[in-house]
Amino acid sequence: MKRIFLLIFMCSFLSFCSEKTTYKCTICEMSFEEKDRSDKCQDWCENHHSCNVEIISHSIK
Ligand SMILES: [Zn+2]
Repeated sequence: MKRIFLLIFMCSFLSFCSEKTTYKCTICEMSFEEKDRSDKCQDWCENHHSCNVEIISHSIK
């Protein structure tokens, strides 16, 4: 019983951390610090099938 609780705790903790660090555009797989930017990038990628230089300049890698 204790183990299951610990496992659930670890999972929620890890997902919380990864959510907090970066946001990814699922199309070009660029990472951003803000969700706002990753949303914008995803929008752009979906509609233009190319990358926006201005958006990319805010990416982490
Ligand atoms: Zn993108």
